[in-house]
Amino acid sequence: IPVRLSVTALYDSHGHIYGFLGIAHDITEQLKAEEQLEQLAYFDPLTQLPNRMLYNDRLNQTINLAKRNKTHFSIFFIDLDKFKFVNDTYGHEMGDKLLVKVAEILTQCIRKSDTVARLGGDEFTVILPGMDSHYDKLAVGLIAEKIIAKLTEDIIIDNTLIQIGASIGIAIYPQHGSDASSLNKHADIAMYQAKEQGRGQYIFYDPEKTVGMASPD
Ligand code: GH3
Ligand code: MG
Repeated sequence: IPVRLSVTALYDSHGHIYGFLGIAHDITEQLKAEEQLEQLAYFDPLTQLPNRMLYNDRLNQTINLAKRNKTHFSIFFIDLDKFKFVNDTYGHEMGDKLLVKVAEILTQCIRKSDTVARLGGDEFTVILPGMDSHYDKLAVGLIAEKIIAKLTEDIIIDNTLIQIGASIGIAIYPQHGSDASSLNKHADIAMYQAKEQGRGQYIFYDPEKTVGMASPD
């Protein structure tokens, strides 16, 4: 068991140490509580994916690593299409189950070293770090395509067949931003463009297309 140990030296009348007194406190419960707090602070309770805080932490780590190694990486902002329809038609509980399923699908679509996070609502993000091919637009586009294809497949929950889709905005480091906030903003803008252009597609951030365009937030 994990313990916190306090040790005190015992002295005789001549000031010589003749022994030690140790008191061991069982801290199993304390560690469990700390673990639970950490889980709540960094993970989404519904899907168990990293939350916005952990996502931003990982994004900053990835930026620092890419800066040091002079590499590239990309981030995806993924928003489900017409998710409100699922809530309205089948109820919020079914919507929740669908979000859990989406988290599973997204996790299956990427490598272990990549990060999938839930920012909130029906919005998810992916960080694809470190690989040379991850700044190759073609290779990155293929991953986005695979994610959209998987999320567009029929999903069965509690014997109910549900069909959704997703729109993805992509920003690449460092071309589309060298810090977390500009990368996030640009992936978000690209995602809104994908929505505007009919949903069910991915779009790379393009600064030229956004001249004069109001930011979605
Ligand atoms: P769009 O195609 O434009 O993305 O429309 P949408 O219907 O997907 O709606 P939108 O992305 O604008 O909003 C997401 C909705 O998801 C809003 C809210 O009603 C619902 N929602 C947010 N959080 C949760 C949740 O934890 N559980 C469930 N079931 N629904 C949620
Ligand atoms: Mg949506």
